Formats: sequence, C-alpha cells, structure tokens
Amino acid sequence: MERYRIAPGTDVDLAAHDPSERLTFDGPKKLGKEELGALTLRLRELQELLYAEGRNRLLVVLQAMDTGGKDGVIRHVFRSVNPQGVKVSSFKAPSDRELARDYLWRIHKEVPARGEIRIFNRSHYEDILVVRVRDLAPPEVWERRYGHINDFERMLADEGVTIVKFFLHISKEEQAARLQSRLDDPHKHWKFSTADLRERKRWDAYEQAFEAMLSRTSHPHAPWYVIPANSKWYRNLVIASILVDTMEGLEMRYPEPEMDLSDIRIE
Ligand code: AMP
Ligand code: MG
Repeated sequence: MERYRIAPGTDVDLAAHDPSERLTFDGPKKLGKEELGALTLRLRELQELLYAEGRNRLLVVLQAMDTGGKDGVIRHVFRSVNPQGVKVSSFKAPSDRELARDYLWRIHKEVPARGEIRIFNRSHYEDILVVRVRDLAPPEVWERRYGHINDFERMLADEGVTIVKFFLHISKEEQAARLQSRLDDPHKHWKFSTADLRERKRWDAYEQAFEAMLSRTSHPHAPWYVIPANSKWYRNLVIASILVDTMEGLEMRYPEPEMDLSDIRIE
C-alpha cells in the first residue's frame, strides 16, 4: 500500500496517477469484495482494541472531487465496526457562527478523543481547496494556511493523534458518469445538485489545488494517500488495507486487569 502514499517533498502531478489502476489486487471484483469483507471484520476487532486500550486516537481525513466516493467509503469500509466506536464529522460551507472564528475552530472541536476513531468527511483542507478555487479569500490569506495546517497536524500528532488522509482520485469522465446516474435514477435525484455542475467547470483549478495540497501537506506523521477511485470496490479495498496496516502498527494491547481475576467466583 506504500505505493499510494505521497512522500514528503514530492511535487505531485495527478496526471501521473491513474484513477483506474488496480495494481495491488490481482483478482476479479468478486474476490476483491470477499477480501474487503475480511478486512472490515479485522477493522472491527482493531476498533474494539483501540477503545479498550483507550490510549490512541485515530483521525481519518477524506477529500475528493464531488462524487469522488467519500460517503461510499464511510458506508462500506466501516460497515462492520461498532457504531459506538466511530464518529463522522462532515464539514459543509461554514455557518455565520463558524465564519466569525478562525477556520480551524470548528475543526479542532471535532478531533478524536482517546479510544476513538473520527472520520472527517471534508475537513480543514476545504480552506485551501474550495476557498482557493472560488476566491473565497485572497491568495495571501489561503497561502499561509498550508503552514497553519502543517503546524496544526504536527501538534495533534505530538499529542497522540494518528492521522491518515485519503484523496479519492476519480477521472473527469467517471464524474460525468456518476452525475448522470444521479439524473437517471429517481432514488438518486436528492443527491443531484446544480452546484456540482458549477464546480465541475472548475475541474482544472481543483486539480491544481489538490496537487498543491498533496505536495505541501503530506508528512510521515500525517501522510496523504492518493487512492485510485474510479472502481469503487478497489477504492474500498485499498483504504481498508491501509487502515488495518495503520492500526496494527499501533501495537495495541488489551489492558491488564487491575486485580487478579482468577480467584473471583460469581455466585
Ligand atoms: P456536500 O459535501 O456535497 O454536502 O457539500 C458541502 C459543500 O460545502 C461543498 O460544496 C464544499 O465545497 C463546501 N464547503 C466545505 N467546507 C467549506 C469551507 N471551509 N468554505 C467554503 N465551502 C466549504
Ligand atoms: Mg455534493
């Protein structure tokens, strides 16, 4: 899974990352889905251990173009995990209350507590993505945010947060197909938004903003992974594998009982 991790200092060119490749799994979709099933069960065990041990905090950041599959990842990769063990924070356009503060205020309140997995569906990265692309703040304002964000994540990592960041990489053609299916399927009409068509017109500017994000904010303590996401099952499989590897790397253990339990008899 290392192949998808962005090494610090890399000048990322998304054109060099094929959103359709499936190089780490040599098998058909059916087998890939079975493998995903096994990984989701392993994630359930690891989440229980994370909670029981109460030491680590895991933050999973999801960013993508519209229709990139953030919701699908949350639904499929975490489907077996105890619902009490995972929380999702979704960041929409900021409210007046949020705009009245600094842009990290609403983010910091949502970071995981000990023993918790927290998924960010969008994140502080919107403040150097949509804000940059749509000129919601002048360049000198968003330009300095790369540094703020690096410092913020460094601080979280120093304080014990394990951070993993996924960019779900789809092609412009795949986005067209997904938007079309939202028009064709009455059960998906609710997901269709003309705002997505407006953002699609800025595809190239978004790609540039994503490239800058990936080039400037990937670190060993908070790595970005560029996930080939045209195939949904492959995307889920890769993300589940990376999460299992990351959590296994934490070397967690069930806590020792506070007293000798061997003499206790339940009457
Ligand atoms: P959705 O995830 O489809 O419900 O859309 C949420 C919308 O909120 C997207 O268009 C984001 O670009 C937008 N959004 C999220 N964070 C920010 C932000 N910090 N500033 C401006 N727009 C944002
Ligand atoms: Mg949307």
